[in-house]
Amino acid sequence: MDIKWIGAHANNFQKGRNGTKIDRIVLHWIVGTLSAADSTFQNGSRQASAHYGIGPKEIHQYVKEEDTAYHAGNFPFNLRSIGIEHEGGPNLPIAESVYEKSARLVLDISTRYGIPLDRQHIYKHSEIKATQCPGTLDVDRVISMAIAFKGEPEMANTINITNDKFKELVQKATQSDAVADVFGFDRMDADLGNKVKKAVEDLKSEVTAARKDSGDAIEAKSALEKTVAALTTERDELATKLKAAQNLPPKVVTKEVEVEKIVAPRTLGELFSVIGKFVSGVRGGDATNV
Ligand SMILES: [Zn+2]
Repeated sequence: MDIKWIGAHANNFQKGRNGTKIDRIVLHWIVGTLSAADSTFQNGSRQASAHYGIGPKEIHQYVKEEDTAYHAGNFPFNLRSIGIEHEGGPNLPIAESVYEKSARLVLDISTRYGIPLDRQHIYKHSEIKATQCPGTLDVDRVISMAIAFKGEPEMANTINITNDKFKELVQKATQSDAVADVFGFDRMDADLGNKVKKAVEDLKSEVTAARKDSGDAIEAKSALEKTVAALTTERDELATKLKAAQNLPPKVVTKEVEVEKIVAPRTLGELFSVIGKFVSGVRGGDATNV
């Protein structure tokens, strides 16, 4: 809570509380603005002060809580209480923001001193002394607002959400820095971002490897096809030559005595050689076909 220290003239309060325990809060209205309270409590001839004053925009503090402010018009009651002034008067309605600040301050004080949030412990000034104070200030409303604030979680990020909602928010956080900032997921966003980056890099590596494998396979296939084509050509040529050999006239075979002398071919080369010699022999030395 943002509270601005103003202080009060030394005549307007007493140091300490004579050993009295603080167990009451007294609410007042200024019958004027917050700055009017500032000047009144700085004035040493007034013999008046409060611990706090609340305006629409600021909370001012004039007297330390450990000291006794002169606010209730009843010294024993001053010793045991904390006094809070509110900007307002007959022609100055009390602003909504003054109610809110008052409720938060009352809650803070009641929490620190263990003062219950009820009308037995939080008083209108007029319940201590005959006075118009606190005028239009709705003390019951201040108390009920303080009770409501007490039930609020202190931090926005303690809001309960379902797991699915959480996942949805995390997904949104990865898509939008603004959303991530709002929900405080920027760190999570960075972690997810890094995981996604790594996953993409891994995928790229896999694709590259797969492409390389594919390229290698295509090259291997192409080489294999060339080999098959070459072998096919060779086979066809051999078949043609063999057929040509088989179609030679029978007389040539019977006539060829020298063929028997030739050792059986062990390779295709030798076979061609034999066929060549055979053909050459038959045709009288013309071996241009072999
Ligand atoms: Zn008063």
